[in-house]
Amino acid sequence: MTHLTKANKILSVYYRTEQRLCPICHTLLKRDHILWHKQVTFSTGAKKLVSWAYRCPGDTCPGPKDVFKSLKAESVHLKYRRFSRELVVRIGYQHFWQHQTMYEIHDWLTNDLHLSISEREIAYVFVDFLALLSAAQPARIRNKLGGLQWLIVSVDGMQPEKGNDCLYIVREIQCGVTLLAVNLEESSQNVLCEQLFEPLKSLAQDFGLPWRGVVSDAQETIRLAVAQSLKGVPHQACQSHCLRDAGKLTFEADRAMKKELKASFRQALPRLRKRIQALPADDPFRPVLLDYTGAIHSVLPEGGVAPFELGGIRVFDALEDLAASVIRCQKKGITSCCAGSLLW
Ligand SMILES: [Zn+2]
Repeated sequence: MTHLTKANKILSVYYRTEQRLCPICHTLLKRDHILWHKQVTFSTGAKKLVSWAYRCPGDTCPGPKDVFKSLKAESVHLKYRRFSRELVVRIGYQHFWQHQTMYEIHDWLTNDLHLSISEREIAYVFVDFLALLSAAQPARIRNKLGGLQWLIVSVDGMQPEKGNDCLYIVREIQCGVTLLAVNLEESSQNVLCEQLFEPLKSLAQDFGLPWRGVVSDAQETIRLAVAQSLKGVPHQACQSHCLRDAGKLTFEADRAMKKELKASFRQALPRLRKRIQALPADDPFRPVLLDYTGAIHSVLPEGGVAPFELGGIRVFDALEDLAASVIRCQKKGITSCCAGSLLW
């Protein structure tokens, strides 16, 4: 048994109802009994919270003998959990926004904040955080859709691994809010209608918003499901998907060229460097030529992003610039002709 000294004694916080008077007879409410008490861990340490229940003391009060409680007390914790909401949000933020791992967060909580929490408990807190987020989403959607005149949604299905569930994400394009995120085992027309477009239709109805259009990658089942559920609503293929598909051949050809360029230079570079290093140590061209080989080496790993950023072209351009630079040097006589020909 640990001895409770003043230093490790836990602070108690008592909550009373924010409502002072009985709403019916306006008598001052009286403290009645303890509604609940629990120990809750905040980022500043553990506290014992006590929430008092209040009642109207008037015998002649015609109102029901309701219990009044503190709303603040209800808002600082989560039911059946020992971590404060504030701490849950801070942990979730570190994980999902700052990309910290469970171990890094554990280190921060135990070493910096001196809290007692296990790694497993942190994993549970991640789940609580996600539950809080999804509980807040309807209010967020209400807020964002309130100012719109019509709906334009984008539908995208992502399958992280072949054979696994497909995650469908529906966003409203004008305000960028995610309306739906559903994991579907199959992507047939009927399932899409039932799980995606029917809920969307009732959402639009709730807000009294007319449909303006749908954007998707034009996957056949999405096309059919839109035609079935949202009759007459324009459906456009997503431009970025189209461009990526249209640019596929170019991108592949570029990648092949880059591979070839890299392979030929990777083979030639060590030999070239050896020959330059074999030049006399006092040769003034030696360090300049070595710099050129360094430059060639550094441009080779350039990457590309589909559809427009072509890595192969970039490598090719950079090599051409280097070649032009060597030729300029040769013309000015800065590098000797024989040394220049070592490079090209
Ligand atoms: Zn009363």
